[in-house]
Amino acid sequence: MQKEILDLTKKLVAIASVSGDEKRADEVLSLVKKYLGSGFVYREFKSAGFPSLLIKPKAVNPRFMLVGHIDVVPASPEMFKLSQKGDKLFGRGAGDMKGAVAASLVFLKKTKAPFWLLLTSDEELGSENGTKYFLQRVQIKPQFVIIPDGDGGLNKMITRHKGVLVLKITFHGKAAHSAYLWEGGNALIKMGRAIVDLDKKLFSQYRKDAWHITYAPTKAESGDALNKIPDCASLYLNIRRTEKESVSSIVREIKKIVSPAKVEILDEGGLFFTDPKNKYFQHLQKSTEEVTGRKCEITFEHGATDARLFSEKKIPAVMAAPKGGKLHAPGEWVSLKSLEKLYQTLVDFTA
Ligand SMILES: [Zn+2]
Repeated sequence: MQKEILDLTKKLVAIASVSGDEKRADEVLSLVKKYLGSGFVYREFKSAGFPSLLIKPKAVNPRFMLVGHIDVVPASPEMFKLSQKGDKLFGRGAGDMKGAVAASLVFLKKTKAPFWLLLTSDEELGSENGTKYFLQRVQIKPQFVIIPDGDGGLNKMITRHKGVLVLKITFHGKAAHSAYLWEGGNALIKMGRAIVDLDKKLFSQYRKDAWHITYAPTKAESGDALNKIPDCASLYLNIRRTEKESVSSIVREIKKIVSPAKVEILDEGGLFFTDPKNKYFQHLQKSTEEVTGRKCEITFEHGATDARLFSEKKIPAVMAAPKGGKLHAPGEWVSLKSLEKLYQTLVDFTA
């Protein structure tokens, strides 16, 4: 099995499908179809030049879904030739995530298991035209989704990440000539006082690497002339929330501190949360522990991933990826043994 996964990874890495290169992305998906052959049903999508492919075995009603992306970040030409040193496979996309895509394809071809496989080509750009586009248009609801993206090893099972919330807080005052400041109301000073208040109550309340909400002021603007009292000042907060806080409760809390300033939501991204008591999750955990011979760690990530898009649709998902390293950097690698273990874990999960 190792050899088949290795050969396919080599072929996938050799196509420099950097995000946005439509021709190369098409080429990868053609290779995928050629590899799997006629025993599968293919549905192709394209949005803004980004192709995606949904695959399922013929005459099978899938219950689960594997999700992968075939786009990679740019690299020097020699990185598109896979090289091997011991157990490590080096190359652009080896770890992120053509190796895992190859293992998933070999699994699907050999077992015809009840899985959909979704392959997208814009994950590195935010998935707007891939996973997001797909979930908006296709009415299928898998019972469980596995995303083997990342490099933490299969035993690191990620079930949560935070949701982003960007707020704009606007302070109003009264404009005046700076020589006659008593005639004005300085919005910049109001903002400054609010920042001190927010800092005491929220900004400095965090512990490194802990699972709780964080608030970061990231931008402030005020004033349009050096001799004018500013009548307006705006502060921007970048907040990362957990499943424990709702957007409305956060906005309420901020409003209490900065009142009467105006609080607006500029951007809001969903959080990812899967209950570790979910039966398929537990099943996958058991399969992983059996195949690797090691206990799983159930953990979280701070930054957003595609998994949030499934949480928004109330589809349970997990991220667990083969062991690798140096993703998005020179020296990107993946462990071939770990790819084979991904294959075996999927086989065990389906058995
Ligand atoms: Zn990735």
